[in-house]
Amino acid sequence: MDPICIVKHRCVGCGLCGKVCPFAALTLKEGLALIDVDKCNLCGACVEACRYDAIEIRQASGALQDFSDYHGVWVFAEQKNGIIQTIAYELLGEGRKLADTLKMPLCAVLIGHDIQKQVAALTSRGADRVYLVDRAELAYFQDEPYAKVLCELVHRHKPAILLYGATSIGRSLAPRVAVAIDAGLTADCTGLSIIPETGNLLQTRPTFGGNIMASIISSDNRPQMATVRHKVMKEAVVVEGRNGEVVVEQIADALLHSRTRRLRFEPEQETTMNIAEANIIVSGGRGLQEPKNFRLIRDLAEVLGAGVGSSRAAVDAGWIPYSHQVGQTGKTVCPKIYFACGISGQIQHLAGMSSSDLIIAINKDKDAPIFKVANYGLVGDLFVILPLLTQEFKKVLKSSE
Ligand SMILES: Cc1cc2nc3c(=O)[nH]c(=O)nc-3n(C[C@H](O)[C@H](O)[C@H](O)COP(=O)(O)OP(=O)(O)OC[C@H]3O[C@@H](n4cnc5c(N)ncnc54)[C@H](O)[C@@H]3O)c2cc1C
Repeated sequence: MDPICIVKHRCVGCGLCGKVCPFAALTLKEGLALIDVDKCNLCGACVEACRYDAIEIRQASGALQDFSDYHGVWVFAEQKNGIIQTIAYELLGEGRKLADTLKMPLCAVLIGHDIQKQVAALTSRGADRVYLVDRAELAYFQDEPYAKVLCELVHRHKPAILLYGATSIGRSLAPRVAVAIDAGLTADCTGLSIIPETGNLLQTRPTFGGNIMASIISSDNRPQMATVRHKVMKEAVVVEGRNGEVVVEQIADALLHSRTRRLRFEPEQETTMNIAEANIIVSGGRGLQEPKNFRLIRDLAEVLGAGVGSSRAAVDAGWIPYSHQVGQTGKTVCPKIYFACGISGQIQHLAGMSSSDLIIAINKDKDAPIFKVANYGLVGDLFVILPLLTQEFKKVLKSSE
């Protein structure tokens, strides 16, 4: 069935559709519009132009799509150095709810090398089946071969839903897969549920800098794909003795080729914790004035057992590595407590931290936008306030030991 058609009893042969078609796909024949589907790219210009509703794009409604072959909720089980990352457990926790609602199996995809022993960590947390791809070429993440392998598995097994973490790896991998398999992708979701009437995945994510929540469905394509924000969903709990099926997948060598090559791995020279994992984050911005003043941030972070974050201004100035950047083009974090020190609170920064449970802002400008999202605001000089806070927390925490 053609994806676009003329509704003959409505067409009056006015020819307007032919005039607006940028691909010369529409002509008139015997007083009716005629579509050359090979030329048409479904841009919809003719549908909009037709005053008689005589042209229909069938794919757009989704009503004629048959997705009955697509089955199962999949999560991409991210691993680093052979260790499954906690985001995979969060995805399993959320995936379980979706799979139960849809009455479908929950499956994990594990790609790497020498990772067989990690399978139990996935099945014990709810995976009914693990698709395992174990090849030396896949020992560490590389966009190209990982995307090709995942596309191959999607073609073989046709999952209904495929979830990734909104991590550096997930954000790199998911769009490549989406383009290759012609699927939709919603980035950075904070909520997932199933629409009972249609069985479609309802994907919720903050937009416009966190000011509104958007609900998105990919009704016309399968699998429905989303990246999910770290630390928003609860991790699936381990059920002792729970087992699942393991499907060892064979992959053609051609899929493992990569145009990029890893030369070496250089660990970051930082002693503080990864902010994506931190329950407390102390962040510094341009208000610190000089790189050496990040010491004030690190001192407080150390006392609180917190991670160190920063605004982009501080990263751009070379005061702190990019991995600490919070915001639209940095990390999205959701700690229990977020300290913003000398950070003005521009919308791009707020996009990465405004869903923190408690926000404490220190800024000498009482009108700084950060105070609009802060639960507690300290108006004053951070060079005075930060040492005092560090000292007081040290005392209080020591006395409570
Ligand atoms: C496409 C795009 C993406 C971006 N992505 C990001 C992103 O991911 N993350 C991000 O952070 N930004 C991002 N930005 C940049 C963003 O717009 C701001 O420029 C940046 O967040 C400002 O950083 P800041 O708050 O540290 O600096 P400023 O805006 O310069 O604020 C410094 C603050 O420090 C206060 N201050 C100064 N001295 C003191 C003192 N002694 N005591 C107390 N307070 C003091 C000042 O009152 C001021 O409010 C992006 C911008 C664009 C265009």
